[in-house]
Parts: sequence; structure tokens; C-alpha cells
Amino acid sequence: MVSRVIPVDEFDLVIFGGTGDLARRKILPGLFRRFLSGQMPAGSRIIGAARSELEGDGYRQMIADAVAEFGGEESRNKKGLEAFLKQLEYVAIDARGEGGWSDLAAIVRQDVVQAFYFSVAPSLFGDLAERLHTNKIANAQSRIVVEKPFGRDLETARELNQTLAAHFDESQIYRIDHYLGKETVQNLMAVRFGNVLFEPLWNNHYVDHIQITVAETVGVGGRGAYYDKSGAMRDMVQNHLMQLLCLIAMEPPGQFEADAVRDEKLKVIRALQSIDHHHIVRGQYDAGPDGPSYREDAENPRSFTESFIAMRCHIANWRWAGVPFYLRTGKRMKARSSEIAVVFKDLGHTIFEGDEARHRNILAIRLQPNEGIDLQVTIKEPGPGGMRLIDVPLDMTFADALGDGAEDVTDAYERLIMDVIRGNQTLFMRGDEVEAAWAWTDPLINSWEARNDVPKHYDAGSAGPEDAMMLLHRDGRKWREIKG
Ligand code: NAD
Repeated sequence: MVSRVIPVDEFDLVIFGGTGDLARRKILPGLFRRFLSGQMPAGSRIIGAARSELEGDGYRQMIADAVAEFGGEESRNKKGLEAFLKQLEYVAIDARGEGGWSDLAAIVRQDVVQAFYFSVAPSLFGDLAERLHTNKIANAQSRIVVEKPFGRDLETARELNQTLAAHFDESQIYRIDHYLGKETVQNLMAVRFGNVLFEPLWNNHYVDHIQITVAETVGVGGRGAYYDKSGAMRDMVQNHLMQLLCLIAMEPPGQFEADAVRDEKLKVIRALQSIDHHHIVRGQYDAGPDGPSYREDAENPRSFTESFIAMRCHIANWRWAGVPFYLRTGKRMKARSSEIAVVFKDLGHTIFEGDEARHRNILAIRLQPNEGIDLQVTIKEPGPGGMRLIDVPLDMTFADALGDGAEDVTDAYERLIMDVIRGNQTLFMRGDEVEAAWAWTDPLINSWEARNDVPKHYDAGSAGPEDAMMLLHRDGRKWREIKG
């Protein structure tokens, strides 16, 4: 398969926090891949801006090292790397002071696409936004990219939105959620809205329930102190899982255009019902052979923060009335796996004698590993022995489907950055979406904090606390297996 690379317009991309972990691990290696693919025009420049004073080629060396460490196969392309590094610049800058701003103003051009990636702590967003204007660097067409966490509750998210809105129009703000940049997530929209097969079944007449699982094997070690102030609800559900839920549940937008898509997502969030606390299970991992317990990792022996959460949600609208959406996410689980499963209803009547087993169609959308979609269908078991039914997957693993071009499946970050340069906001969260998501999660968090709810224990390397299993068992259902 020949991959089609559509070059973007010439740009200057400034990465504030250009020496940080995210820039070195994801942003720069991703941009290097886009450079190699031919998508980045020759005159474009990437300008790292951070606190450190770096001598001479110090930044280029730092990024060469980062690409070698995190860039995968492509990092072996020495000639390509040399050419890429030539498009890199660096400015030492103080977000809170005046140092470095005139240097940046002298470098950034006004006649190409301008994007400013705020890969720094959110407490610096306001300073950066203001200084970009007082130093006459940004203009009415500039774009800014902001990272999660976007607030820690409705109030702080509103403040952040107001801070950014004081300097930039909503059409210039790109709130990144890398889950939306995944190939499968976009394919979910293609499957839903590009086929006649699924949409007629995509409702409470045919769908029994939907499961969304984001399981990680890593613990919080290393960033335990930060995580302990956040927890799985704030860190994962309020953003990633809710975005996936929106894409699964939204009405077809009138067109595939940023605000049309985001209007429909917003309606889903606003239609989410509040959840009774009996339908939320919070957990903390115990110590296991591979590492310490959550409380040890968080260095907080009395922590009540959840490293796992499972919940049953309902969307109050005609399409989804009565259909449970089960969400779960956790750390130190048995496998690294992210999946959305649409579980269809049982047949009303079976004509196959002796077929007691329940055969259900399941559409499983795998985000990781092996991005792809499979549809579980029932067929006759091949061979003699009568009409015995078995379930088999119709598998569309993108790596297989794309053959030799599989390695071209663009990483979420690089795809999203190219969308910023193109000025396409479809896969970015709008300010009102983020606020609506917090408006739904805040009361749930406040409620368990007021009750001093103690998270349940779970074994590291398991599928979470027993109570999470019960959440579905009580409804006569069960979670899908977490498979890596
Ligand atoms: P980091 O601590 O590794 O890097 C911070 C960067 O900010 C450094 O380059 C530092 O020089 C710069 N900086 C700090 N204070 C500054 C100042 N006053 N003036 C100018 N520059 C300053 O952080 P990170 O892990 O790269 O994260 C950056 C942002 O991205 C954070 O908001 C984080 O929450 C978010 N994020 C990170 C990840 C990740 O995987 N690292 C994932 C999602 C979101």
C-alpha cells in the first residue's frame, strides 16, 4: 500500500518546554518521522524554548540523543537526522520573566504558519500567552497547543480557559488529547459513519452494553507524588475515556468538520447522568513481585487516591436510554490494553437446537496493542458433527491490512501536530467540552471525598478489585478479558 503524504504549509513551531520529557520522548521524535516522510517543508523550523542555557549545538545534540532513544527504527537514518537537526533552533527563555523573549521575537517569522506548543506546567500558560503578545510574536492566525491536565476541576479549567481566551481566540487553541490522534479512534468514525452496516444497529434496540477499558501495566512510581493529587478519575476518565465515550455515543455530525463533531460530543457529555456511588469502584494496587504498592509509590501511607476506577454510566437520550456504558481504567494491571467493545444483544430466538451458549456479536475497537477493529460473528464450526456454532472474529488489524506500509501508521502526536499546522481542530477538545466533562466528574469526586471513601485493594497484575467484577455480574454481564 502506498501511503499518501500531503505536505503542510511552511511553519515555525515553537516548543515551550522543548527540553522536557514530553518534548524529548514524543514531540521531537514524532516530528522527525514527519520530516522523513516528506511532510515537513524544507523551510520550516522547530524552535525549542526552555529555561536551560544551552551552548552552541547543545539543543541539537539533546534532540539527536532523544531521537536515538525514543525514535524507533527511523533513528538509524543518520543522513535524515542530520538534515532534520538543521531545522532546529533553540532559545533559552524565562516564561515568568523577560529573558529570551526578544531573541524569540527575532527568530519567529510572521509570514508562515506559527504554532506554539505549551509543553510546560499549566501554571505557565498565562505567562506564555501574555508574553507572546506583549513581545509581538503571536498574531491573529497563530495557534497554541496545550497539554493535559486541563485543570483539576471545573473551577480551575474555567480559569485556564479564561486565561487563554484573554489572548487567543478559541479557533486558535488546540487542547491535545493524544487518544484522539490514534488511527483506530479515527477509524471508529469511519466505521460508524462510512458504512451502512452499523449505524442502524447503533442504539438501544440492538446494543446491550458498551465497555471501555484502558489498562496499564505500569504503576505510578516516579510521578507518584503528582499522581496522588490526581487519581484515575482526573488523570484518565475526565479526558481520555470520556473522549472515547463521546465518539462511540455521539450522533452523526452534519459534516466532518471541527465544530460539527465537537457540538455532537458536547451533547453526549451533557447527557451523561450522575452516577450513584454504588456504581463506582475505586481501587489501589497492592505490592507485587514487580514493584511496591500504590501507597509506597505515592509515598503516602494514608492515601485514598484511586489507581483504578470502574463505573457504570448512562446517557440520557433516545438513542442510549437503558444501555449501560461500563468504563474502567487502572495502573499495574495484567496487560497493557485499551479497547472499546460494543456488545450487541442476544438473538431474540435461536433456531439451532441444542445451542445453549450465548452467541453475541461484539465489535471490538483496539487502541493498543495492535490497533485494529474486529467483529465477533457466529458461524458453524467447520467439519462434520452437525450444526455446532462457534464465535470467530472478523479481524482488521491495521498492521496486517496495511501490509508493508504498517510502519507508516502515524503516531498520535505527530498526526495531531500536523493537524495543528493545517488548522484542523476536529481532533482537539473545545473549551466547553472540557468544562462539561469537569462539571460531570466534579460531583462524583466531591461525593467520595466527603464520604472518605477508601479504595479497594487489588493485586498488581490483576484485572482490578473483585468489586469491579461484581459491578457487571450484578447486571448479568462480565468484563472482557484484558489481553496484551
Ligand atoms: P518536564 O518537567 O520534563 O519539562 C518541563 C519543561 O518546562 C522544561 O523544558 C523546562 O525547561 C520548562 N520550563 C519550566 N519552567 C519554565 C520557565 N519558567 N520558563 C521556561 N521554561 C520553563 O515536563 P513534561 O513531562 O515534559 O511535561 C510538560 C507538560 O506536558 C506538563 O504540563 C505535563 O503535565 C504535560 N504532559 C506530559 C506528559 C509526559 O508524558 N511527559 C504527558 C501528558 C501531558
